Amino acid sequence: MNIFDCIVVGAGAAGLSTSLTLGRARRNIGVFDDGSNRNRVTQESHGFITRDGTKPHEFREIGLKELEKYPSISYFNTKITEITKDIVNERFIVRTKDDEEYSTEKIVLATGVQEVFPILSVRDYYGKSIFSCPYCDGWEMRDKPLVVIAEDEEYMLHMTKLVYNWSKDLVLITNGARISEQSALELQKRNIKIMVEPVKKLIGVDGYLREVEFESGETIARSGGFVIPTFYRPISFVEQLGCEIDEKGAVVTDGMGRTTQKNIYIAGETEKVLPSSLMMSAGEGNKTAVAVNTDLTMERF
Ligand SMILES: Cc1cc2nc3c(=O)[nH]c(=O)nc-3n(C[C@H](O)[C@H](O)[C@H](O)COP(=O)(O)OP(=O)(O)OC[C@H]3O[C@@H](n4cnc5c(N)ncnc54)[C@H](O)[C@@H]3O)c2cc1C
Repeated sequence: MNIFDCIVVGAGAAGLSTSLTLGRARRNIGVFDDGSNRNRVTQESHGFITRDGTKPHEFREIGLKELEKYPSISYFNTKITEITKDIVNERFIVRTKDDEEYSTEKIVLATGVQEVFPILSVRDYYGKSIFSCPYCDGWEMRDKPLVVIAEDEEYMLHMTKLVYNWSKDLVLITNGARISEQSALELQKRNIKIMVEPVKKLIGVDGYLREVEFESGETIARSGGFVIPTFYRPISFVEQLGCEIDEKGAVVTDGMGRTTQKNIYIAGETEKVLPSSLMMSAGEGNKTAVAVNTDLTMERF
């Protein structure tokens, strides 16, 4: 069985960054990824300085190539299905979908988040003409006729005001959810149209939105837009391993990625179950790596 100082679950921006720093600190680490990163659907990633416009798979390849320089890093392209505590040896046993087992002293969970959309067929357009982050894709959608799809009033207002910065030609779609008169007036003052009626279907070609059809049969021509999904953790390791979670669903940490369970660390979007960015996730990965390495150093010195 391979024995590691640390296993990093997830090789997104957070996991790659954690791994790079730990490899450079001469730690023997295993990095695992099953290719389910949520941004795999998008054409280009933006806003990561020196990498603006890179395709997600290129970003991953560059990251993995950089890890190859460090002989103490092993990369496995597979899914981790189970993590159990080996209490006697104060270690963890990590099992893959192919039933391979690995032993590690420390674990970094960098498994990201996934989305559920208010209208299921948004998935067909996601990453090509409908996005969830205006900082990531607002520039590419600037001045186009756009929709904002949101069902929660607080998020409706927030996202619509934000997207207005990139395009003034906006329709807010609440898909049957209520919006207060005061909020509606605030948006209508800016000539933002509000459609409360439920959506019947989205119409487009090859992921590029052309029209939205409502239950009444009314259609509006739109080129794309932004949506507020619900985010969740793809796999319940934090719950299974007993990490404390706060009332908002965020994993309780010390601010450096240490969870309330000894030897279990967290990095990237999976910590707060909230969307962020490649840059922020990479930064968090770096911070968590420092915590892991500090603990290994002090425990073994
Ligand atoms: C459509 C779209 C467009 C985006 N555009 C941008 C952009 O332009 N700029 C930007 O900065 N951000 C963008 N983002 C956001 C960006 O993708 C995230 O902020 C970033 O990927 C989060 O990094 P992470 O490492 O926390 O998670 P992820 O990148 O999601 O990485 C988590 C990794 O964990 C792996 N994993 C999960 N479970 C397991 C398991 N059980 N076993 C093994 N591996 C596992 C997954 O395969 C995945 O690779 C976009 C997102 C989407 C959806």
